[in-house]
Amino acid sequence: MRKKIVAGNWKMNKNLQEGLALAQELDAALKGKTVNCDVVIGTPFIHLTSVVNAVDTTKIGVAAQNCADKASGAYTGEVSAEMVASTGAKYVILGHSERRAYYHETAEILKEKVLLALKNNLTPIFCIGEVLEEREAGRHFEVVKSQIEESLFDLSAEDFSKIVLAYEPVWAIGTGKTATAEQAQEMHAFIRKTLAGKYGEEVADNTSILYGGSCNASNAKELFANPDVDGGLIGGASLGVDKFMPIVEAF
Ligand code: PGA
Repeated sequence: MRKKIVAGNWKMNKNLQEGLALAQELDAALKGKTVNCDVVIGTPFIHLTSVVNAVDTTKIGVAAQNCADKASGAYTGEVSAEMVASTGAKYVILGHSERRAYYHETAEILKEKVLLALKNNLTPIFCIGEVLEEREAGRHFEVVKSQIEESLFDLSAEDFSKIVLAYEPVWAIGTGKTATAEQAQEMHAFIRKTLAGKYGEEVADNTSILYGGSCNASNAKELFANPDVDGGLIGGASLGVDKFMPIVEAF
């Protein structure tokens, strides 16, 4: 059975002390509690080691928000997948629309990042999603399908089964304008069908597909109630335990 996951994406927020305090507060909130999903937090690179050491990593998975598309060497300012893994982080968010749009990450670059993440036993949380113009033109299915095909469909079924997908319609990210439960379910079912066409029903059934884009305490339950929505990738609402915990508990 596929995993239910609620993953926070802190983006470029919280200095080290603030991030550590947030992670510790979340750790305390989860102590002694049984929740019905895996909990992940995606922190800035410099927070990874401290956060891994500060939380119960059997309860909170720690994610980087990016990694380099090269294994090592003369790439000033980059952080490799191996470095991320060496901190004890278990996940890496890849292909977020902000990275695609502002840092020019192409399908080809993302393909390399995914391979390096997998090589270092990190679970990629791979983001896909259309911009508003594409949805309005009725091209959203086609766009999402190509994003998956171009960066992931050269993987073997065994490798693909290690990937978590996050459908994040770009028009819903940080805008307060979430996709409706119907729009999310429709796209998630389409994604699962696309995966089944390539890798077969079993792999498709076992792939966790998260929804992201203005997901919060008031809409999480309705979104997560859909059969093909396996959790959320949460930006703004992951920056406070009071906002994040109700989403974790929406399952
Ligand atoms: P948001 O961001 O929840 O603030 O819309 C989601 C994301 O970008 O992962």
